[in-house]
Amino acid sequence: MRCPKCGTLEDKVIDSRLAKDGSSIRRRRVCLECEARFTTYEVLERNEMRLEKKDGRRELFDRAKLLGSITKACEKRPISLEDMERVAEEIHRELDCLNDAEVTSRQLGKLVMARLRTLDPVAYVRYASVYRQFQEVGDFIDEIQSLERRIADSPDQPVLFQS
Ligand SMILES: [Zn+2]
Repeated sequence: MRCPKCGTLEDKVIDSRLAKDGSSIRRRRVCLECEARFTTYEVLERNEMRLEKKDGRRELFDRAKLLGSITKACEKRPISLEDMERVAEEIHRELDCLNDAEVTSRQLGKLVMARLRTLDPVAYVRYASVYRQFQEVGDFIDEIQSLERRIADSPDQPVLFQS
């Protein structure tokens, strides 16, 4: 790594630290020429992935957009940003494992819904209502009824919809 102070390419790693979540390694280096110390980060290079939208258009998979849609669904719910970021990371990893350069928005939506379903029922319904664009009102009612049944089974959950 080129020394930021003198430009020499010779350096020595004096400390390596793995990030808490294992996603990066931080290395402290010292220049062998001028002894300047600097830091580098090593991260996994991820394959570029394309997302095929419902209308057939393709765009690059955008992790920030994914997190944005999750954040929106979780608005004002008792879910920490950390949890939302974890969900986005898990989904990103799952997409990496598909080993496919292309994923449909439907596949992506399913992955998000599967996680929101266990995380928070309200966020799940919000996301589902946008993503699925419930073609018939009946679908939406079915979804809410099955949710209400699940909530009735676990008395700790808040009431979702009051009649
Ligand atoms: Zn130097």
